[in-house]
Amino acid sequence: MKRPMQKKYLMAPGPTPIPVEALQAMGRPIIHHRAPEYESIFSEVRQGLRALFQTSNEVLVFASSGTGGMEAAVVNTLSPGDRVLVVRGGKFGERWGEICQAYGVEFVPLDVEWGYPVDPALIERSLERDGSIRAVFVTHSETSTGTLNDLRTIARIVSQTPALLIADVVTSLGITEVAVDAWGVDVAVAGSQKGLMLPPGLAFCSVSDKAWERVGQSKLPKFYFDFAAEKKNMAKNQNAFTPAVSLLVGLRETLSLIQQEGLAQVFARHDRLARATRAGVTALGLELFSRAPTPAVTAVKAPAGIDGGAIVKTLRERHGITIAGGQSQLKGKIFRISHMGYVDDYDIITAISALEITLAGMGYPLELGAGVRAAEAILMEGKA
Ligand SMILES: *Cc1c(COP(=O)(O)O)cnc(C)c1O
Repeated sequence: MKRPMQKKYLMAPGPTPIPVEALQAMGRPIIHHRAPEYESIFSEVRQGLRALFQTSNEVLVFASSGTGGMEAAVVNTLSPGDRVLVVRGGKFGERWGEICQAYGVEFVPLDVEWGYPVDPALIERSLERDGSIRAVFVTHSETSTGTLNDLRTIARIVSQTPALLIADVVTSLGITEVAVDAWGVDVAVAGSQKGLMLPPGLAFCSVSDKAWERVGQSKLPKFYFDFAAEKKNMAKNQNAFTPAVSLLVGLRETLSLIQQEGLAQVFARHDRLARATRAGVTALGLELFSRAPTPAVTAVKAPAGIDGGAIVKTLRERHGITIAGGQSQLKGKIFRISHMGYVDDYDIITAISALEITLAGMGYPLELGAGVRAAEAILMEGKA
């Protein structure tokens, strides 16, 4: 039963909560995008994005969800008939393959059991075996399974070959270290509604020098998602088409919040929240789904005899807390608690407490408070 007055908590892996600074900025009257006021905002945004991606190259911005940025990465770097390697360990890895297929790019799948990270040595072997591979597609943080891949090691391997490394960093950017230049990630794709703490609607692509060379040779069709056209406009603090002005105004605020907190502290906070969440659920006797959990979202196996979907539904309807269930073959088998973006210690306590009450109500044997206590032990680090 829904309570008459119910406070809402958004703890799903995107969209994520939005800080009030960004909400207020986005609520101001819209400004014109071909005017100096916009250009000065966009100049700040460009600089903030370069700092966040840890790159000296331009980070291109498109008005689309994250998938648009993924499509842009494919159509700007490849040509029909090119062969690529696609790491598939979840829904988002599969998406890279689907986009390649839609554009006639031949992909070799490297399938990884869901919940496991890819072994970078397998990527190395695939590249050694097949010298015709033009690009490697990976998902840094596989949101569907709650798994973090070792992008740094993968980048070290791929950067020594002629292949490009194209990475989905949608739920790692602003959450854990993503050092695009230092690691050698050629195209990194992100979106606005995860670690960047904004509504959905912006996609970001960083592009390395090695990738820019390929952009010049790419023959796949493109019109809106044209890297070269955007780069030319960005140099003038402009965009090829009408940008998502309000979202960019919000982005200036969230980039500034990230800068004020400091990247190292942002990563440390996500790590702490993720460890507290894991400690909380495992103290209740639950099992983590992933062998290499991402600091963005914790995937938890639903206990035997309890449907993961029912846990999600009860948390939403009775407690006002939105988490996510499992997708595809994981439907009903897992539930996922997000702790990325504008999230702090007591959001985790709220979620674990509501989970305890929910599970107890379903007849799952637990000691009320055990999960909260375990989470608090982690959250106390450096605070007491
Ligand atoms: C959310 C997400 C995306 C982008 O999805 P959109 O719905 O298009 O924004 C891509 N990759 C991962 C890993 C994600 O979590």
